[in-house]
Amino acid sequence: MKLLILYYWLRWKLGPRWRDRTQLLRWQARQLARYARWLRRHSPYYRTLLEKGYTIDSFPEVDKKAFMAHFNAINTVGIDRDQAMKLALKAEREEDGAAMLHGCAVGLSTGTSGNRGLFLASKRERAEWAATMMHRVLRPGLRRQRIAFILRANSQLYESIRSRLFEFRYYDLPRHLAPFLAELNGYQPHVLTAQPSVLRLLAEAQQRGDLAIHPEQMVSYAEVLEPDDRQVIESTFGLTLTEVYQATEGFIAATCAHGTLHLNEDIMRIERDYLSEGRFQPILTDFRRRSQPVVRYRLNDILVEASESCPCGSPLQAIARIEGRMDDVFFLTGKQGKPVTIFPDWVRRCMVRSQDQAEDYVVCQTGPSDLSIYLSGLREGLAPLQAQMEAEWQAFAEQKALQPLRLTFFAHLPTSTGIKRRRIIRSYADE
Ligand SMILES: [Zn+2]
Repeated sequence: MKLLILYYWLRWKLGPRWRDRTQLLRWQARQLARYARWLRRHSPYYRTLLEKGYTIDSFPEVDKKAFMAHFNAINTVGIDRDQAMKLALKAEREEDGAAMLHGCAVGLSTGTSGNRGLFLASKRERAEWAATMMHRVLRPGLRRQRIAFILRANSQLYESIRSRLFEFRYYDLPRHLAPFLAELNGYQPHVLTAQPSVLRLLAEAQQRGDLAIHPEQMVSYAEVLEPDDRQVIESTFGLTLTEVYQATEGFIAATCAHGTLHLNEDIMRIERDYLSEGRFQPILTDFRRRSQPVVRYRLNDILVEASESCPCGSPLQAIARIEGRMDDVFFLTGKQGKPVTIFPDWVRRCMVRSQDQAEDYVVCQTGPSDLSIYLSGLREGLAPLQAQMEAEWQAFAEQKALQPLRLTFFAHLPTSTGIKRRRIIRSYADE
């Protein structure tokens, strides 16, 4: 495995360079054409489509539902969905992280809507992922770097990155903070990666003096990084966060040394379905993926293009932010009675304008014009804030041409919303 990782890492180091975007896209088109030929030979699902006259540019889009429905015909390693699902569920229950089938790691992804997805990664793909991560995210120093990975569950994906340049330690999401902090104090990582809610916890522990680490790089992944969390984490540790945007569907983007997110267009083609100016839903075709092709896969996320090019000069598209999931776009009733699309970022900004007391919050759409607003850590309770918040939200409704909002406030957070924290939630379906 280590040799495979090294091989892929060298491939990156010696790999193609693009002068500009035109050159990159030309190279990408060649990769896609080659990938289509490979699909014809290995994936029954895409072979049939190619024989019907479809091309890599015109394949029908898949979403999670279609991806699972055609699982057996799409995958190229002859894995049966039901068998894989049974195995993955068993591993999940036993908190074993990774189930293996035909040399592939089988993982589960949980969608916000509750439908499970199955994902496969061969040994080769796991090695390539690790190498890509090292190349794109970690900045190798002169001495051996101690890296702390904080994961949801120990996954085989990460297991084997250990070399002369790097030493990795894995931590499961901490159930008890104190022993975990002691462990980190002892390890003194140079690099620390975790989801933003955990990084925020660590920043608070550092401020209290319970944690005293001095990492040179911190990597945030797996959740939307909220601007206020970023600010607290960066100022506490005195660094610029590296952001990794990764889903089970692929490694989609990472920040460069300037802190700008760039799409990994040298691994996948990312088509943009525009929702409004600069705001789009990505459609992924990962031309490096082999065991389970991800082709024209519509991701449920909303991305916003950067308006200016990044000073790093990378030809890879720069992204201003990952705004949230399509599931969490609000549809509030407009003045004409029709639903109006309200993006998570607008909700977030209104929330920040309306109050500055809460330590944390959740905004939930619960009806056609109904919002539940949860706030935690209010020292003087809700009463002194309520009028101001009410006024700010009604002004927001006016500005977006909505009917007056019905607001309910709570001086606590809703009970657990799962492992991934979400601040903007739509629990109401307009159907
Ligand atoms: Zn850049």
